[in-house]
Amino acid sequence: MQPTTSQSSFHETVPSTGQVAYFSMEIAIEPAMPTYAGGLGVLAGDTLRSAADLGVSMAAFTLLHRKGYFQQHLDPVGMQTEEVQPWNPADFCTEEPARVTVSIEGRVVTLRAWRYDLKGSFGHVVPIYLLDTDLEGNSGWDRGLTDHLYGGDTNYRLQQEIVLGMGGVRMAHALGLHVNVYHMNEGHAALLTLALLESQLGGGPEGAAAETDIEAVRRKCVFTTHTPVQAGHDRFSTEQAIRILGADRTARLEKLECFRDGLQNMTLLALRFSRYANGVAMQHGKVSRAMFPEFSIGSITNGVHAPTWIGDPVQRMLDEHIPEWRRDNLYLRNTIDVPVAEILAAHARAKEELLAEVGSRTGLVLNPKVLTLGFARRAATYKRATLLFTDPERLKEIAAKAGGLQILYAGKAHPQDEPGKALIRQVVAEAAKLSNNDLRIVYLENYAWQLGAQLTAGVDVWVNTPRRPYEASGTSGMKAAMNGVPSLSILDGWWIEGCIEGVTGWAIEDGANDHEEAQSLYAKLEKAVVPLYLDAREKWARLMRTTLAFNGSYFNTNRMVKQYIRNAYYPERLAEPAKVEEAAYAD
Ligand SMILES: *Cc1c(COP(=O)(O)O)cnc(C)c1O
Repeated sequence: MQPTTSQSSFHETVPSTGQVAYFSMEIAIEPAMPTYAGGLGVLAGDTLRSAADLGVSMAAFTLLHRKGYFQQHLDPVGMQTEEVQPWNPADFCTEEPARVTVSIEGRVVTLRAWRYDLKGSFGHVVPIYLLDTDLEGNSGWDRGLTDHLYGGDTNYRLQQEIVLGMGGVRMAHALGLHVNVYHMNEGHAALLTLALLESQLGGGPEGAAAETDIEAVRRKCVFTTHTPVQAGHDRFSTEQAIRILGADRTARLEKLECFRDGLQNMTLLALRFSRYANGVAMQHGKVSRAMFPEFSIGSITNGVHAPTWIGDPVQRMLDEHIPEWRRDNLYLRNTIDVPVAEILAAHARAKEELLAEVGSRTGLVLNPKVLTLGFARRAATYKRATLLFTDPERLKEIAAKAGGLQILYAGKAHPQDEPGKALIRQVVAEAAKLSNNDLRIVYLENYAWQLGAQLTAGVDVWVNTPRRPYEASGTSGMKAAMNGVPSLSILDGWWIEGCIEGVTGWAIEDGANDHEEAQSLYAKLEKAVVPLYLDAREKWARLMRTTLAFNGSYFNTNRMVKQYIRNAYYPERLAEPAKVEEAAYAD
């Protein structure tokens, strides 16, 4: 028995040898590394940061993304253009000497890994391996396979997924890791199951897999699905699969019933080979079971990494009153005893910092006393960024009554998402049309980690208006809650669990259509939010406090990672701790 976890580790529930290998197409590792696009990557990064804080034995695999996702530029009418974000891996990571190969379109492609050591608050390290095909000996095309996150067409995507899934498993072996759980964070990594099956069968793509072989792979795999939006589930044509993966592997996938509607479906593959699968909020588990009724799918609700997303002024306040929160986020519940004046003061500082950032980006001077709403997320149509503009006159009236209203927007559209890009132009056009002395609407360019942190910490209310049931979870409202910022949102995703009316924020009531839901949004703003903000500072401050206490203490990755350990990674430990301990240490 060789302990590989640090002193601070979570010995009670985590085996000290053998580890979880966490696979994700994107991981937000640090702000200066453009290795993520949005929510999925931020969640992956927050998961690993909490795993490191808790001393969990874990390693992660992703692609290097040498050219990043993209930097967003918006012209005066909101037209988005994109710029690549090249970065230098050697500034952040160490190259591993190991080399492995994968087969893509019949070519042998060699890959290496760059190791990034993610250090937890108490010193435990979770290594992240960023896979890279930019090696001499690979063709020019293959050298570019790990350049662009979500770039190119579906051919490029399938080739990247071979590198991530199959390359990642081989790299884990080459690095000598003892993996006892493979966690697929979204279907992008599903091909890791094929690599495990081939290794179980002693080699290549041919040969019949017996039920016991499949079971041996299933014992090691868990899978998290992240979206009820169909386009979010990777599917490839039979022709593509045969050409890129090869005829033998495609035949195997067909035999394993990983095709649906004539397309090879990565979510199905991941589900077939996982002994545990989950959605990312209670409601999302339900929606996922309806999409894939032949599988058992549970729920583990997302969270965010508290020390990453709580702004400095609130962190200082917490350190003074409940320093234990850094070790165990459950202590955030005791914010309930912090004097409300301190919460107001801490938030006022975060708001000043945000408005200063807006000023330096746009030249606009916003008023720190005025009620400020935040709406920042990927510009996808189901998020309904323009719902607030359904009735412009009503919005202007509310702004006048409130003595002013400021609305901060931000968000990128995927470069190939024309409707998403049109949505940004629409918000920018409405902003120009509606902005007056009472109402200021600003669209901020290049939504990313740091702007996300400043927005969620500094606005007064976080607004979210997705079309049900497409928001799997959402995490930005959790970041706001950590900062004592209430949400005003549609009851979808995490908010179904997080909303306590008038205590952690407000629900936009379910309507039969956009118009009805917009009416509820206006009514809540006018009758609940504005009067409390203007006339009842003490009550407002208490609402901020209950928001942080109730939702901050629950919607964090510290709790979430513990749930993954108990429900997904090592559930046997609850039933027969001694026996499982033996098995876990035996590897
Ligand atoms: C938190 C975060 C997200 C995810 O938030 P949602 O609520 O899911 O939209 C996306 N992008 C960035 C930059 C973030 O910080």
